[in-house]
Amino acid sequence: MGQAKIYYDSDADLGVLSNKKIVFLGFGNQGSAQAQNLRDSGIPNDQILIANRVDSYAETAKAKGFRVEHDFAKAAEVADVLFILIPDQVQPRVFNEQFSPKLKSNATIVVASGYNVFFNLLKFQPGQDVVMVAPRMIGSSVRSLHEKGRGFPCFVSVEQNGTGKGLDAALALSRAIVREETAMDLFAEQALWPNIIMMFREAFNVLKDAGCSDEALCYEMWMSKEPAEIFERAADDGFVAQLKHHSTVSQYGQLSGSLKLEGGAMREHFKDILYNQILSGKFCKAFSQIEDDLDEEGDANPLNELYKRSEEMELIKAEKRVRARLAGLL
Ligand code: NDP
Repeated sequence: MGQAKIYYDSDADLGVLSNKKIVFLGFGNQGSAQAQNLRDSGIPNDQILIANRVDSYAETAKAKGFRVEHDFAKAAEVADVLFILIPDQVQPRVFNEQFSPKLKSNATIVVASGYNVFFNLLKFQPGQDVVMVAPRMIGSSVRSLHEKGRGFPCFVSVEQNGTGKGLDAALALSRAIVREETAMDLFAEQALWPNIIMMFREAFNVLKDAGCSDEALCYEMWMSKEPAEIFERAADDGFVAQLKHHSTVSQYGQLSGSLKLEGGAMREHFKDILYNQILSGKFCKAFSQIEDDLDEEGDANPLNELYKRSEEMELIKAEKRVRARLAGLL
């Protein structure tokens, strides 16, 4: 994971996409945003095709003026460029069974997350380009920032350069970035955020036991949007420099408190997750075993079961009470 190279808009030549049929598999968070951005950037509508099953996503795509193909084999046959923008867990099944056999041997395949490429779960032909264009932004913002004329950072890499022109097509860098992107994404999801959730949960429990009210706690900790504000300042001013916006008491408390924490146990815990859970493929293997169950309804769906267990947290119960009391005022 060396130093990443930064490309700017001026490095990208949209001309390489002229006359190419661009198929978007999926019209969800990323699909709808990316397809609309692409069209607004000057790619003619008749070069763009949305592949989606018959349902509300397809209807939304039609309402936005896109052509929609429900037959995936037909969409695959015409694609010069295929964006795979359906949830990661269904990509291997849908792509390998319905797209891969029909795709052109020199097609360019674009993924928005390195996950399935990193773990070799998608079947590509040797002459195809496989590139990753992974916006570091949630789908709705991919669209709204573009509408405001603003950009956002994006990880780009060429994972397979079948035509030799993968770099031009996606302004890509090296396969190392797929690893970097995937490992970093999974690390944030499996190490950083679980600990942040756990810290909020335990901080809440301690303060609640000390007699603080639900309202004060929920507002102090997140409902006032103060943490969101702080992260915005961190992005603009600097991770530590943003502290200067806080009171002197707060600055002193935060800096002296964090420097006092040595972090050794946490470092070991994080390394364990990175090496033994993510890079070893252990998580990927376990996740692929529950993949089909994620389409189930109710308790048969493991994600629902996790949500149900999370709702047992005192923090979540308190939040529900606060929201119910404030209903209509929020
Ligand atoms: P969504 O959950 O929004 O995808 C929904 C789309 O996938 C719909 O078009 C849906 O249509 C289709 N879909 C779902 N299940 C199936 C299936 N079994 N067969 C065919 N189509 C299906 O996905 P995201 O946009 O969130 O994610 C897409 C990719 O973008 C992923 O690789 C993700 O990691 C990546 N990404 C997402 C980000 C985000 O902010 N969400 C950020 C950066 C990257 P229908 O149900 O009608 O079939």
